[in-house]
Parts: sequence; structure tokens; C-alpha cells
Amino acid sequence: MAENSYSTIVVGGGIAGLTAAVFQAQAGRKVLLIEMNEKCGGLVNTFNRNGFRFDAGVRALLDAGIIFPMLKNLGAELETVKSYVSLGIGPDIIHIKTIENLKDYAGLLKKHFPEDGADIDALIRIIRRIMKHMDVLYGIENPVFKDLKHDLDFIFKKILPWFPKFLFTVRKINRMKTPVETYLEDIIKNPALRDVVAQHFFKNTPAFFALSYFSLYLDYFYPKGGVGTLAETLAAKTGMLGGEIKTGRRVTSVDPASRFVMDDLGNIYRYDNLIWAADLKKFYAISKTDHLAPEVRNKAEETKARFLQHRGGDSIFTLFLQVDLPPEYFSEKAHGHFFYTPLAEGLGETHRRELDVLLERFTETSREEVLDWLDRYIRLNTFEISIPCLKDPVMAPGGKTGVIISLLAEYLLFKKVEEAGWLPEFIQEIEARIIRVISGSVYPGLAGHIRGQFSFTPLSIEHRVGSSEGGITGWAFTESMPVIDRIQIADRSVQTPIPHVYQAGQWVYSPGGVPMSILTGKLASDKVLKQKAG
Ligand SMILES: Cc1cc2nc3c(=O)[nH]c(=O)nc-3n(C[C@H](O)[C@H](O)[C@H](O)COP(=O)(O)OP(=O)(O)OC[C@H]3O[C@@H](n4cnc5c(N)ncnc54)[C@H](O)[C@@H]3O)c2cc1C
Repeated sequence: MAENSYSTIVVGGGIAGLTAAVFQAQAGRKVLLIEMNEKCGGLVNTFNRNGFRFDAGVRALLDAGIIFPMLKNLGAELETVKSYVSLGIGPDIIHIKTIENLKDYAGLLKKHFPEDGADIDALIRIIRRIMKHMDVLYGIENPVFKDLKHDLDFIFKKILPWFPKFLFTVRKINRMKTPVETYLEDIIKNPALRDVVAQHFFKNTPAFFALSYFSLYLDYFYPKGGVGTLAETLAAKTGMLGGEIKTGRRVTSVDPASRFVMDDLGNIYRYDNLIWAADLKKFYAISKTDHLAPEVRNKAEETKARFLQHRGGDSIFTLFLQVDLPPEYFSEKAHGHFFYTPLAEGLGETHRRELDVLLERFTETSREEVLDWLDRYIRLNTFEISIPCLKDPVMAPGGKTGVIISLLAEYLLFKKVEEAGWLPEFIQEIEARIIRVISGSVYPGLAGHIRGQFSFTPLSIEHRVGSSEGGITGWAFTESMPVIDRIQIADRSVQTPIPHVYQAGQWVYSPGGVPMSILTGKLASDKVLKQKAG
């Protein structure tokens, strides 16, 4: 095979691309992974700033019957610790370690919403039911990572008894696809309570997915050294198995008729099969379809049009703080993964109608009006707070603490502010408000101990990993999803209309996220392995 010719090329070194590449290398294929950043990992990434190690994207991981079976299959080691979650409203904080803590959650909600006890009990019953469904869904190691030909025991003792339960559960789940906001209207009368329960989920998240959160809280783990260690482990294993990784180069054009890709340095790489593990709008934007057979070209154009009509899901604003307070100051309050709502009033229309109006009339809205909205948005919101050194002490210099605070953020708002020319000031205003709210509530006096701060916006996410609208788990939830959204046919999600081109990652299956990105990476690799080379 010529020097720049590969059996498989994977574009995008996020967790999906790394998974695809490592399994291609394991199968002995000549594989090249091309990543535009200097480091692989995408949204599963840990970086160093002044001795503090921060997670840039996802804060902790969920096995979901996927990550550990994958590592076992690869013979790869990953040292992990449990990542416990705390939940807080105002001064009241509960710590989640077992399913028993669901009672504490009910107590927490009842303390702040004493009139709504019956509705809270109904909610807890639903969460309990969903947790049972989750136990079935994730109850066995995902068969995709097992060698089924040689593991008859697994087939007879695990898959066969599990499968009918799985089908039953999937039927139940499919009945809970209503957006969580709408679903909760039938259960909880008080809009403020509904908000406090659901305001930190993406808009229109399917109810089942959103309300499975308590299961997630129980199952989070944290790789020692940060979540990025998982990506580094896969990258190292790819190299050990003979795969090649080229970083710091962006693929700028794909010619699927002649089967080559070109990077921004002008290099051409030929492939037998391509796995695209990055944004799909970008893939269709840079793919030359004119030389494809007419029926293939038409299907590719239809797919492109379908994707262009949809937008990436909600994005996120993240503030990183370097604080000269010891970890004990923080561990006395909460675990290293903490969902905190300072006020039990709920966001109300702040993130719905008020935001829509703000965006529609942005050019006629003064800066003061935008900041006034921002005040309410931050005061009433729910924050995801992650403190890496409470999970692994090496993540911060001795006696100091790195704190990561994030909240959902609307990409279009940042875009409009940028176009209006005051993005740096807007970012400062957001940072100042978050610090004021957190310092004035759960971590009193924090503001006086901050020695360094910076933040990532939806625009930085778009810029860093090339994801449309800064989306972090793929497409926005709408009635018509442009990709597969049913688990029983997830294997089809990796196919494209173009021969020898497969797709993987957050943009190919909905709802996305780390486990599904890994799963689709493996499924795409499996499809390629079923293809004859050439
Ligand atoms: C703050 C935050 C919190 C999150 N929390 C959770 C959570 O709790 N649970 C969960 O499941 N998920 C969570 N996620 C989402 C999850 O991290 C992502 O959905 C997942 O990591 C996506 O992986 P991916 O490989 O599909 O895509 P990405 O990570 O986006 O990787 C794509 C890669 O392709 C590269 N690339 C793009 N274009 C090109 C090109 N033209 N040429 C070469 N390279 C290219 C990019 O640089 C990137 O490395 C969170 C994300 C963030 C940011």
C-alpha cells in the first residue's frame, strides 16, 4: 500500500474516532486517524493550566455497559475512582451514594416545596421506575464489545435471558419520548418545582432520558488524572497496535468518488474506507459529490439538506477557577460533582419566551436589557460544579483547588453578542455574575480567593471541536430527528448514503453523549471490518 494510502481513515480524534481507530488497529487494518487539534479527545479532554488540571468537556463518565467492556476487550488499563454527586438547593445539600438517597432527594424538594408533597412523591415513583428500566438497559456488558463467536456462555447465560426484558423496556421507553417539560406538566402542578427538577436539561430532552438522571448520579466514575485519561488510553493503544495518528491537521475536503481526503496542509490521503467521526454538516459541506453515481449523489444531497435544516443541541458556558482555598473547604460542603440551584424560584420564562424575544429583537435591545436578562438567568439557574481534586488529589497544587462551574448556554445569543462587538465584555459579565452568586451562597467568600479565571463559551466549543452551534451531544431535540433515535436499530446509525463512508459520534445517534459516541465508533469499525478491502 502506498505511503499515504490506508485501509481505513478516521477523521476526528474525539472519543468516537479514537474508538473506531483502536478497533481498526486491533483488527490489523492499516489505519490513520486525523485530528485537527494538537491533542486527541475532543470533548473528553483534560488540560493543565498553572498546575491545575481541568476537564474541558464531560466532567465524569458513565459506564453504561460500554466503557469497561471496551477496555476489557482491548486489554487496556484505566485507573478509576467513584465520582459521587451532591445536589443542593439554597443552603440544603444532599449527598448521593445509593438508591436510598432518593428519599433525601424527595425530602430536599419537599423542604423547598412543602405544598407539593404528593406531586413530589409521584415524581419519585417515576424516577424509581425509570431506574429499573436503566438497570435492564445497562444491565449487561454491551454485546458489541464481546467476542460472541467464542463466548457461548455469555450468549446463553446473559443475552438470551436479558433480551425479552430489553425489548419490554425499550417499548416502555419509547412511550416516554415526550419532551421532559411537557411530560412533567402532567405530574407537577407547580411550575417553579418543575423548573428546579428539569431546568438543567437540554430543551425538549425526551422525558425518559432526562428523568434517568438519578441512575446516572449513582454510576458516575472518574478516571485518575481526569476524564481525558480515557482518550489518552485509547490513543496510546491505537499506536501500540500499529495505528497511526496525525494531529494538528484539519481535513478540508473529501472526494468520495476517488476515495481520498485532503488536509489543510495540502496532504492527500487515500482510503479503502472512511469513518467520519466529527460534525456531519461539515462532512457534507466539504464532500465533493459531483463525481458520484447519480442515485448516490441524490441521496447524499437529500441527507445534506436534512442536516442543514437542523441545528446542534443546547451548548454550555463553563467557568474555570484557580482558587487558593484547600480542597477541604469544598469537600465539607459537597462531593466533587455537584448540581446546585441557589434559589428555588425556577427559571420560569427566562430561558424560554424571554430568551426567544431577546434573540428576535436583539438589534433593538440595549446592552443594559441584555445584562438585566443575564442577571435573572444566572441568579435563578442550576449550576453543574465539578472539583477535579476532590476526585483525584493530583488535579490541583497542594492547598489549592480548581473549580469548574457550568450552565446551559444558548449559542445564538453568544453569536449575536459577538456580531455586536462586545463578546469579551459579555463573558466578563457572565463570569462576574456566576462568581457573585456562588460566592454569595454555597461557597461564601470564594470571590476573595480566586487567583485565576477563564471560561469557554458555545463559540469556543464550536471553534475547538468544530461542532455546529457548539452542540455537545449532537442535534437539538425536535419532533423530526435527522438521525436514528431508537436503540434497537442503533447499528444502522453509522451508515451513510455514500459507499465506503461510515459515520460515528455525537451527530449520528440521538440522544448522544459519551457512551453512544463510543458505541457508534465501535459499530462503524465493525461495519468496515465486514467490508472487503479494495
Ligand atoms: C461540559 C460538557 C459536559 C458534558 N457532559 C456529558 C455527560 O455528563 N454525559 C455524556 O454522555 N456526555 C456529556 N458531554 C458530551 C460528550 O462529551 C460528547 O457528546 C462526546 O464526547 C462527543 O464525542 P465525539 O467523539 O462524538 O465528538 P467530539 O468530542 O466533538 O470529537 C470530534 C473530534 O473531531 C475533530 N475534528 C472536527 N472536525 C475535524 C476535521 N475537519 N479534521 C480533523 N479533525 C476534526 C475535533 O477536533 C474533535 O477532536 C458533555 C460535554 C461537555 C462539553
